[in-house]
Amino acid sequence: MQAPVAIVAAMELELRALLPQLTDVQRVARAGREIHLGRLHGQRVVLARSGIGKVAAATTATLLAAEFAPSSMLFTGVAGGLAPDVRVGDVVLARELLQHDMDASPLFPRYEVPLTGRARFAVDAALADRLAVATAACLHEAPHALGASHLAAFGIGHPRMHQGLVISGDRFVSTAAESSALRRDLPDALAVEMEGAAVAQVCADFGLPLAVLRVISDRADDSAHVDFLRFTREVASVLTRLIVVAALTQPRPSPTA
Ligand code: SAH
Repeated sequence: MQAPVAIVAAMELELRALLPQLTDVQRVARAGREIHLGRLHGQRVVLARSGIGKVAAATTATLLAAEFAPSSMLFTGVAGGLAPDVRVGDVVLARELLQHDMDASPLFPRYEVPLTGRARFAVDAALADRLAVATAACLHEAPHALGASHLAAFGIGHPRMHQGLVISGDRFVSTAAESSALRRDLPDALAVEMEGAAVAQVCADFGLPLAVLRVISDRADDSAHVDFLRFTREVASVLTRLIVVAALTQPRPSPTA
């Protein structure tokens, strides 16, 4: 039988638009989490809310990897924009992830995960490529699909896609001082969130292909002007659904091509 794709987000709100699209649903409880097994437009999926933060995300990723034998994992949700041109409503597709609060110096270089020899964990390039194609198409359609005036109410015009470094840590970054410190120390970081790099470490251990897709909900500073929860429910979760469904239903290159 076809192996499922694991789809995970930290909060229920982030999965709000995707959950009702599941068919043949079976729900099981594991480690205090509700796991939804089913199909999304024909593709077998296993969907779960991890809870917020690196430990919650790592626990969930481990559980799914060990018990449900997924073929790949997609972590999705919202994030704070760090790079100057990463705006609310934009989509950031991680190519690499780093734990910005990991610091075992002077024993190991700052950010390096001790005894792994690395600070940056790469996502699966083929998976990210598929999502990039789906994201570009969905963002083109976004003003139509979500309503231009609805987007304008959140200060969003034409959302864009960015690809590169996403950083994670157990802190909600909500002051200008903290986001400028992160920008200074990690100048190529596009966005900050609280789970992705932890999941990347777990997936590296399991040899499980990972992609991380984030919709920017705020600018990780004290001038964040959007209603975080409303934005997540009404914009981010809908955009995520459009992109995930487009990626899953994309024609796959044939093995002989
Ligand atoms: N205000 C929210 C708190 C959510 S914590 C509430 O009351 O429920 C933030 C979640 O969104 C995390 O899962 C994290 O991955 C992501 N996130 C969005 N913006 C962030 C930011 N500026 N800093 C860190 N994480 C952020």
